[in-house]
Amino acid sequence: SSASSGDIQQALRRAVQAQESWRDTTTERRVNILYAAASIMRTRRNELAAWEILECGKPWREADADLAEAIDFLEYYATSWRTLASPKRLGQEPGELNQRLYSPRGVTAVIAPWNFPLAIPTGMVSAALVTGNPVIFKPSERSPMMGHWLTEILQEAGVPEGVFSCVQGGPDVGQALVCHPDIATIAFTGSKDVGLGILKDAGTLRPGQRMVKRVLAEMGGKNAIIVDDTADLDDAIVGVVSSFTGYAGQKCSACSRAIVHAAIYESFQARLKEAVLSLRIGNPEEPETQVGPVIDRRAQSKIQEYIEIGKKEARLLVEGAVTGPGWYVGPTVFADVAPTHRIAQEEIFGPILAVMKASSYQDALTLANSTPYALTGGVYSRSPAHLELARQRFDVGNLYLNRPITGALVGRQPFGGHRLSGVGAKAG
Ligand code: NAD
Repeated sequence: SSASSGDIQQALRRAVQAQESWRDTTTERRVNILYAAASIMRTRRNELAAWEILECGKPWREADADLAEAIDFLEYYATSWRTLASPKRLGQEPGELNQRLYSPRGVTAVIAPWNFPLAIPTGMVSAALVTGNPVIFKPSERSPMMGHWLTEILQEAGVPEGVFSCVQGGPDVGQALVCHPDIATIAFTGSKDVGLGILKDAGTLRPGQRMVKRVLAEMGGKNAIIVDDTADLDDAIVGVVSSFTGYAGQKCSACSRAIVHAAIYESFQARLKEAVLSLRIGNPEEPETQVGPVIDRRAQSKIQEYIEIGKKEARLLVEGAVTGPGWYVGPTVFADVAPTHRIAQEEIFGPILAVMKASSYQDALTLANSTPYALTGGVYSRSPAHLELARQRFDVGNLYLNRPITGALVGRQPFGGHRLSGVGAKAG
């Protein structure tokens, strides 16, 4: 269940040996391997989704969506690389030929989270592979089976020996990869604290190292949805509830703050409470379940600590009841939350929502931008001027207008944030 340091050394040695031949493999071959992997995933779609329900507690619809996203990533990066692979001539100066071309950097460490246990690793791994980089992949210790299936599928699709290895394990395995002198690029998705630690560790030169390590770090969020006084409340309630309770709030894109105009503050709360109480919480193996458990006991305890903090800082509006065994946390909403409160600033990664009152639309935008994160955000409004102002001032990586703020689609809504939410390129 966990790679030893000998396993990691061996995987790296093989990756370094495979580097040149993989670089020289034709674009067509690398692209076709990704298409083949996509096709294997398609035929195993229900089985893999079932594994995800079992291992990560995802409700059916979301487990299937993760599968669909993984397939999209494979095809998206394959198709994109076809376009990017050919050198591009720059300028038309006679007697001169200038070309811009992309070449692989070297061995890439992919360090993945558990919350999209197939899609996120597939995206990071396939982008690195198709561009000619060998990959050492470390799945999250909380979703090792999904990491194993991705490995099996890529092998079956034809990724050569040594070019791709999976090393299972926790933070120590991740750290060993980050610090290894043969790693040229680190593609990381996970929490802010771990991401910042990786950026620091990657900046230390180790004996034998020949590259400045490049880190792509996609990190957390503290995402807000603004609901102004012109909003369609039916839509806004559905959007806020689905964005904060989807996969029990365990999405980096999840809504964790609802910033509501004073004029509709009371009616919004009353309707929100009813909507939360109507959610079906339970075993994700049952198809009707809307909110399943959180990932493990550690996550449950941490979220419960925040609920206690919230009870001291703000007013408890609703706490969803959960019965039976398992790591469940009922969707919980706090009202009258101030921007300085911890529950308004810190990523909780569970189904917890802070409702904040805004005196004006301008005030709502200021509140929305008042955390160091900048990942996703949303606005429900029927005012074209307000929507336009959000485009200009709402500082997030992905801004959604009059729709939920989770569920970005590959190729249509490239995903990723800035400020403390991440550095690097957008995914898909
Ligand atoms: P995490 O940071 O705890 O772990 C992520 C990965 O890093 C795991 O594989 C873990 O084993 C590894 N790791 C832990 N410590 C390490 C270290 N010191 N050195 C190297 N590797 C180490 O995050 P998580 O709990 O798996 O995932 C949830 C977090 O991920 C949330 O903060 C969420 O917002 C974020 N996330 C962000 C995005 C995005 O695209 N921005 C997407 C999904 C999740």
